[in-house]
Amino acid sequence: YAAKLAKNGAVLYSQTIDKSSQQSLSLLTEMRTALEQNHFQLYVQPKVSVISNEVVAVEALVRWFHPEKGMIFPDQFIPFAEQTGFIRQLTRWVMNAAAACCQQWQNAGINIKISVNISTRDLLDQELPEKFAEILQKNQVLPECFCLEITESAIMDDPVRAHLTLDKLHAMGMELSIDDFGTGYSSLAYLKRLPVDELKIDKSFVLKMEQDIDNTKIVKSTIDLGHNMGLRVVAEGIENAEVLALLKELGCDQAQGYFISKPMPAGNMPAWLERWKSNQTA
Ligand code: C2E
Ligand code: MG
Ligand code: MG
Ligand code: MG
Repeated sequence: YAAKLAKNGAVLYSQTIDKSSQQSLSLLTEMRTALEQNHFQLYVQPKVSVISNEVVAVEALVRWFHPEKGMIFPDQFIPFAEQTGFIRQLTRWVMNAAAACCQQWQNAGINIKISVNISTRDLLDQELPEKFAEILQKNQVLPECFCLEITESAIMDDPVRAHLTLDKLHAMGMELSIDDFGTGYSSLAYLKRLPVDELKIDKSFVLKMEQDIDNTKIVKSTIDLGHNMGLRVVAEGIENAEVLALLKELGCDQAQGYFISKPMPAGNMPAWLERWKSNQTA
């Protein structure tokens, strides 16, 4: 009986594996097709100065417009893209789309930085810095216009190689930001040695900050910590005026969140910016 059970177990097990590997294989095929057929779209979300309310940058956030399933959020495909290595192609696509936008905006007199999210696999790619240099040159934009957002866990996956890549990218002139700060396991001693310019406090601490004294304390300590290390501090996930006011009180430098704007198609940005400016002076 035990042998029979084991046998059935093994059959079941291999069927499950088959099914899930088939699913990821077809997802990979679909992602490749999506890239060929231009079904990915660049969305951007503004980052504003907490003091002046001026828009200083945008974060590039990718969306997938699937012909049958409609819009798919990154959480649904970025993890697969990372597992399969497809992320390298996707990151290059995002960088190219961001660089093209940056060029268009500069021609229209709009000078704002663009932040691009980078994954572990990208950091392990020795050719990434050269590839980025090529993309920027092709689009005639400077590295100084870009900030790369990297999570602590992406860096800690292979700290030695990550450090090498980050040094190269920073030496090219790109800024570096630690994304989702506070949710990973990196040591401060290690982060201090990286050429980082910005800390981005994870939205889980910011979202209901006005109702939660513990989160307020965490955010305050993180702002102080970042400033003591000479870094700019950004908070993500600002959904109401109370949180924005609180962040101003705590000395946070920049804010990003639905209260300011939800992510929008990159093409809508110039018009949004005009409206934002006229609302500030009104
Ligand atoms: P992230 O880099 O931490 O980006 C912030 C996420 O929080 C975005 O979700 C944004 O839409 C969302 N968000 C911003 N403000 C608010 C707010 O006020 N309230 C709430 N509830 N959420 C807010 P999104 O666009 O779904 O992206 C999720 C994650 O997917 C990103 O987290 C990032 O890690 C990843 N991602 C997105 N685009 C890319 C990409 O081009 N490349 C890579 N490697 N990862 C990406
Ligand atoms: Mg980010
Ligand atoms: Mg984040
Ligand atoms: Mg996040």
